[in-house]
Amino acid sequence: MLTDDLALLDQHCHGVRDADLDRVGFELLMTEGDLPRAPFESMLGVTLRRLCAPVLDLAPHAAAEDYLTRRRELGWREVTRRLLRASGTTTWLVDTGFATAELTGLAEFGELAAGSVREIVRLEAVAEDVAATGVAAGGFADAVERELRARAADAAGLKSVVAYRTGLEVPERRPSPATVACAASRWLSAGGGRLADPDLLGWLVHLGAEIGAELALPLQFHTGFGDPDLHLLGADPARLTGLLKSTRDTGVTVVLLHCWPYHRNAAYLAQVFPHVLVDLGLTIPHVGARAAAVLAETLEIAPWRAVCYSSDGYGLPELHHLGAVVWREQCGRLVDQWIAEGVLTSGDAERLVAGIAASNAARAYRVAA
Ligand SMILES: [Zn+2]
Repeated sequence: MLTDDLALLDQHCHGVRDADLDRVGFELLMTEGDLPRAPFESMLGVTLRRLCAPVLDLAPHAAAEDYLTRRRELGWREVTRRLLRASGTTTWLVDTGFATAELTGLAEFGELAAGSVREIVRLEAVAEDVAATGVAAGGFADAVERELRARAADAAGLKSVVAYRTGLEVPERRPSPATVACAASRWLSAGGGRLADPDLLGWLVHLGAEIGAELALPLQFHTGFGDPDLHLLGADPARLTGLLKSTRDTGVTVVLLHCWPYHRNAAYLAQVFPHVLVDLGLTIPHVGARAAAVLAETLEIAPWRAVCYSSDGYGLPELHHLGAVVWREQCGRLVDQWIAEGVLTSGDAERLVAGIAASNAARAYRVAA
């Protein structure tokens, strides 16, 4: 297939868990909820047994228990090394905003993957770090901006998880300094912590868009499914329309991540707004054998230069691996079918898959494909 040998640029993923896991620990990382219900008996579960088992020297479709035993035998490092390297991904853009002591850091991830790794800085994590320094409310906005600019200097992009905090209905215009100072005072005097204040989040997103435009750093938004915290309706990327209108001529690139089940809405936004890119992230391994259908729905209307690949792997290197191999299998199948039906030429198909695999993201993030 056309996708077989393409090197991938994974434009959105996270670190992996740096420990051997028991079944409960493994299953917890297989689901986007916080109460796993037999996740091996799901599309993701069967896809994982089919495609990851051979990487650990087992037959495809090995039983879950055998898979987990073999995983412990090899140890998490060897398993991670094998799965990441066998994905054919050469560049990884890693979101470090949900860094816990339990996840690999950038350097360790790069070494295990034998690939090049760049950081994506999460806006909310920077604001929360600044709040934890004991800064006064009056100096909060300036301190966040300083810290964000310092962290952005080596980063490939910025990212917001506002979808998981207040939803994507952010104000079209940046809240005033007085509003921000007042909100900062409320939040800081309550002890800071997890930032969920709509005024501060709105301000932070606009600040991210401004810095992103200035430094040519794309601004990513988690949208659609992807976290047990979210209210799904609030994570519809169509809710970002006001922000997209106010940023379309500023030079910033906005990247909509995950998107499912709103991938058609995201595809529409990518057609209407020339500064919008979309990816499907963890949707691909989660929907498994249905990924060609979801990809086809995205490509119904999104300009092909606006679609990017990512795995959104988090915790389990199986997810980074499956993002890649399921994408190769399903996208390859889809374009093969379109070529056979005369929908496109093989030249069109080559450009389409090369764009999604790496070159669309490479252009936006200015990283080598
Ligand atoms: Zn994600």
